[in-house]
Amino acid sequence: MTLNAEGIPGRVKIGPHVFEVRSDPATVAALRDDGRRAEARPNNLVISVDPELGKCHESLLHEILHAAWDQCPMRCSDNLSDHEEVIVTALAPILLEVLRDNPELVWWLTYRGDR
Ligand SMILES: [Zn+2]
Repeated sequence: MTLNAEGIPGRVKIGPHVFEVRSDPATVAALRDDGRRAEARPNNLVISVDPELGKCHESLLHEILHAAWDQCPMRCSDNLSDHEEVIVTALAPILLEVLRDNPELVWWLTYRGDR
């Protein structure tokens, strides 16, 4: 894993796509001008995150979930698309807690030697 200058993974693979994770000063300034802490732009394969605000890890995971959502058939469902933000906002902190609290699970889920 390669970390960028701000200590955040510089790339993340989501489905078949590799997203660039930006957190450089110009990106952070643009986020702050928009009053955001992070954003995903699936069409450009870019996730931007402000590394200096609290909940940076949760914010990055939140945007990863948005990017994952964008690749799922459910994004085309009118019934669900209106709820994307609510669902992603609810899941991100819980999923992050599960990952942090269960390193053996993360290892087991991501171990590639057994495939
Ligand atoms: Zn969101």
